[in-house]
Amino acid sequence: MSAPAEPTMPAYDPNNIFAKILRGEIPAHTVYEDAETLAFMDVMPQGEGHTLVIPKAPARGLLDAEPASLAALAATVQRVARAVKAAFAADGLTVFQYNEPAGGQTVFHLHVHIVPRHEGVPLRRHEGGMADPALLAGHADRIRAALGA
Ligand code: AMP
Repeated sequence: MSAPAEPTMPAYDPNNIFAKILRGEIPAHTVYEDAETLAFMDVMPQGEGHTLVIPKAPARGLLDAEPASLAALAATVQRVARAVKAAFAADGLTVFQYNEPAGGQTVFHLHVHIVPRHEGVPLRRHEGGMADPALLAGHADRIRAALGA
C-alpha cells in the first residue's frame, strides 16, 4: 500500500501585509521589537488591547517556521502577554494562532494573537471592524509603558 501524499503548502509570499510592516512599507502601532520579533496592535481587535506578535524570519505559519525562530517568538509572546495583561488590568488572556485558510488564517506570515480578557466579556468577532487609529495608538502606549519602554 502506498503512503498517503504529503499535503503541500503554498510558498511564503513576501508581499503579505505583515512582511510589508516588517519592511516599513506600511505603518503599525508597534509595542515591542527585538532582533527576531515584532509586536503591534491588531487593527481589527477582538478585544481592547488585542496585540499580534510575529517573527521577523519569513514563515507562513507554525509548520514551516524554524525552531529557533519559534523559540524567539514564544519568548516575545510571553513578555508582551504579561505587559498586555498588566496594561489592561485583565483577568486573563486568550492566545491563539491560525494555520492556512481552513484553520482560519487570513494573513500568511506567522503570527500569534494576544487578547486581554475580562470576566463575562465575550471575544468580538474575528476581523469584525477597523478600530480608530487614535485608540490603537493609546493602547500601544499603555502596553509600551507596561513593558517599561
Ligand atoms: P489571522 O490570519 O486570521 O490570524 O488574522 C490576521 C489578523 O491580522 C486579523 O486579526 C486582522 O485584524 C489583523 N490585521 C490585518 N491587517 C493588519 C494590519 N495592517 N495591521 C495590524 N493587524 C492587521
